[in-house]
Amino acid sequence: MSWKIPLRYRNSLAFRLTALYTITGVLAVVVVLGGSYFILKGQLTQQMDQSLLNEIEEYAALIAVQPLNVVRDVLDQEVMSEGSNTLFFRIFDADGKPIFATDLNAWAGSDSNRTHILAALQGRTVFENFQQTGEPFPARIVYSRISNGRVLQIGETTAGNALVLRHFRTVFFLVTLVLALCSLVTGWLLARSTLKSLQRVTRAARAISAGDWSCRVAVSDRGDEIDILALAFNEMIERIQVLVRELRNVSDDIAHDLRTPITRLRVAAENLLRRDAPRAEQEETAVVILESCDELLGLINTMLEISQTEAAGILDATVSVDYSALVEDVCDLFRPAAEDKGINFVTNIKPSVFVRGDIRTLRRALANIVDNAVKYTDADGEVSVLLDVQGARVATRVKDTGPGIHDEHIEKIFSRFYRVDSSRTEGGNGLGLSLSRAICRAHGGDVTVRSTVGVGSDFLMLLKGAEKKLEPSTRT
Ligand code: ADP
Repeated sequence: MSWKIPLRYRNSLAFRLTALYTITGVLAVVVVLGGSYFILKGQLTQQMDQSLLNEIEEYAALIAVQPLNVVRDVLDQEVMSEGSNTLFFRIFDADGKPIFATDLNAWAGSDSNRTHILAALQGRTVFENFQQTGEPFPARIVYSRISNGRVLQIGETTAGNALVLRHFRTVFFLVTLVLALCSLVTGWLLARSTLKSLQRVTRAARAISAGDWSCRVAVSDRGDEIDILALAFNEMIERIQVLVRELRNVSDDIAHDLRTPITRLRVAAENLLRRDAPRAEQEETAVVILESCDELLGLINTMLEISQTEAAGILDATVSVDYSALVEDVCDLFRPAAEDKGINFVTNIKPSVFVRGDIRTLRRALANIVDNAVKYTDADGEVSVLLDVQGARVATRVKDTGPGIHDEHIEKIFSRFYRVDSSRTEGGNGLGLSLSRAICRAHGGDVTVRSTVGVGSDFLMLLKGAEKKLEPSTRT
């Protein structure tokens, strides 16, 4: 696989993280400042309305006690001092007709709303927004009933408030802009520092794919997610390295183990080609060829069987096996060879023990272990096979008084082709225990060993027991 995936900036993590930070930052500012803007706007309108109400109260009191010409002077004075486009007053009589108004040049159309005048005549105080011609901001107008059933109308511009809101909007815009820039820079810096750590992993992966298996990702003491990733990555590389080493060893071992029978085959074939060889010698050569072929086939078949058993995973066995009978049969098979060798072969097999599984492979698994015990134990030694039930587990122990296995070899003897050097004088190919373990694991169990050099070995084969005999039962 190529590492050189063209990195489009728009798809890059750095871009996406930066964009995310920026959008989040801007959204947060817009929500906070936007909310504040609307609250402020509401407050200003409320204040404006309250001030108009106060003015209504003040002038209503004046109108109630002063003749109209005095009121007119006061109101005109007020409008003159404030500005006629800023403020106006108008009084309507009980029929809704205007009886007095200050300068209305800037307020054309402000008397058109009869509904408000009538509502005010009925005693309601009414507010409205009014757009003066040529003014950028709408004014606020209030209608309210005063003494003698008349209506006082006051209009006032909101220019002051609008100015405050305009300033606010400018600040809003600037703050958003500054924060967007800050979020952009912060986001980019954060994304860069995060991605820098990720690049450590990428660099290590590239170095390893280029052949530098010693390369590892540096792990900082922060203990963050990248460190966890780096640790997991390093562990994975460690594991792959072990597997590659094992694979290399297995290939070496296969080559080594195939060489002997193939060389023998070659020599035998050469002998056969010698036409002058006597008939008896030719027959002997043919036997050697057959034996070598069998050895090769046996080796290849066992290798295939181990791979297939390991690849198949845990067996979903529904067949019940009379395991006690199976162990008896295996013992019967090896007892003569053991006795011929002068070994005391002892058995203690609990009857009627059942397990679920495959009878053929289970027999093979146990036979390999018993075969080893007999093979590696000298005359006058002892091999004992014990079958018992430990809770839900069925335990088969194969003990011998052979040479024992040194600690450094204990786990390795279950690897393919592994043979302790001192055992090489005996026949074998180092595949028996691998196959036994693969079979037991496929049955949900395992094979382990305890051993003391010079005392002997004790192999324990654990399987899952079946509580009662299931149909159909298979007898060996
Ligand atoms: P082999 O065909 O060599 O017996 P195995 O996989 O059955 O292959 O065993 C692997 C190695 O484990 C053997 O070569 C031997 O060195 C060691 N071993 C197995 N069983 C015993 C035992 N009962 N006593 C001592 N060594 C043993």
